[in-house]
Amino acid sequence: MSSTYDLICLSHPEAVNLGGDWHSGRGGREIVEARLRDHATELLVGHTGHDVIGGRYSYPLIEVYDPPKPDRLTGEWVSAIWLALALAAHDLPDIPPEMRSVLWYIDAHERWQIERLAPLRLELGRILTGAIEATTD
Ligand SMILES: [Zn+2]
Repeated sequence: MSSTYDLICLSHPEAVNLGGDWHSGRGGREIVEARLRDHATELLVGHTGHDVIGGRYSYPLIEVYDPPKPDRLTGEWVSAIWLALALAAHDLPDIPPEMRSVLWYIDAHERWQIERLAPLRLELGRILTGAIEATTD
């Protein structure tokens, strides 16, 4: 599956895609990791000190990358569908028991708390809409 990799800034009410468009066949994954590690891209101008992550798109967003921080020395790629399900489960007024395992995922990953995911709400919602459409065709 061909993918492209972009940078995404979470320090806004709605996440901002900063671009990148690095392709999977040409080291896109490694480029995103390196750019976030070294802050070596003009795409980050205007986002100094912001919470910038990597995104892997095969439209929709399919994976996100949380870069290393001073308190977390390793970066982590995580499937966007997990985050989409966790956010959807969190938004339900009464969470059915079978959804609790999804919320466990968030509880277990302190780097992906609901407040941090909220700017990605629109993007993550598209994943679930796409998945529903794919199963009802
Ligand atoms: Zn920003």
